[in-house]
Amino acid sequence: MKKRFLTAAMAALCAISLAACSGGSAETTAADTTAAEAADTTAAEAEDTTAAEDAAEAETEAEAEENTEGGTLIMATNAEFPPYEYHDSSQTGPDGTDIVGIDAEIAGAIAEKLGKELVIEDIAFDSLIPELQSGKADLVAAGMTVTEDRLVNVDFSDTYATAVQSIIVTSDSEIAGPDDLAGKKIGVQQGTTGDLYATDDFGDENIDRYPKGVDAVQALIQGKVDAVIIDNEPAKVFVGDNDNLKLLDTAYAEEEYAIAVKKGNTELLDQINSVIQELKDSGEMDEIIGKYITAE
Ligand code: GLN
Repeated sequence: MKKRFLTAAMAALCAISLAACSGGSAETTAADTTAAEAADTTAAEAEDTTAAEDAAEAETEAEAEENTEGGTLIMATNAEFPPYEYHDSSQTGPDGTDIVGIDAEIAGAIAEKLGKELVIEDIAFDSLIPELQSGKADLVAAGMTVTEDRLVNVDFSDTYATAVQSIIVTSDSEIAGPDDLAGKKIGVQQGTTGDLYATDDFGDENIDRYPKGVDAVQALIQGKVDAVIIDNEPAKVFVGDNDNLKLLDTAYAEEEYAIAVKKGNTELLDQINSVIQELKDSGEMDEIIGKYITAE
């Protein structure tokens, strides 16, 4: 029963993704432009480097070679998911834009290790897997949960974080746990595990889907939904930003995050796994996480 439902849910999700793909062309174009711009920058930088090389020493040459030979590593994400990926105009992220967060830094470390320039594409969450499948992106780092259904379409790296789906309600709400959600309106970010699990448990008619988690939270503040189901870390950020919201203690579902690559891209997957292992062994992974998540 559960399995059949999940299959139906995935079919629905695919339909949504396709719709998002064709409907979201502006966003995709914007992302493409960013990638193209980044490529231009690389070309321009490479030219400069070539000019400099003529007069420079061997060390400079070696560095330039690494940069030009390496090319780009394109990470697709949905930068609306603090502290894993989000825009912060006061910072410069590893791709030179204002996209920062745990995933951005991990991808930055992978790119550095491979001698490539990181380019981050910020697109809709439910366009991420199609972006890998079409070969437009090399990897997805998006606080993406490993699920059996996604494993049909992509390969996942070793996991680098655990998460739980949390429930956010307004401070005066009588909802105290998952059992109280029956028959209530639940806001989710479209295509996320929060969406899939809530649809499974509470019925499609009770779910309101939003493009960003913060939009679902806004709907909760405006009284359009009774609760929001979303990953715990962004949940903490959103609740921290709004006095009238609270996070319930009861976890709704436990899960693990990993980086996704195109199915069969074992070369990149192995490289990603070795960087994840190195980051864990050296303590850098803890440092990255500690920079964005303060221990309770
Ligand atoms: N972990 C959730 C998922 O994989 C949500 C991720 C996100 O919104 N970026 O579906």
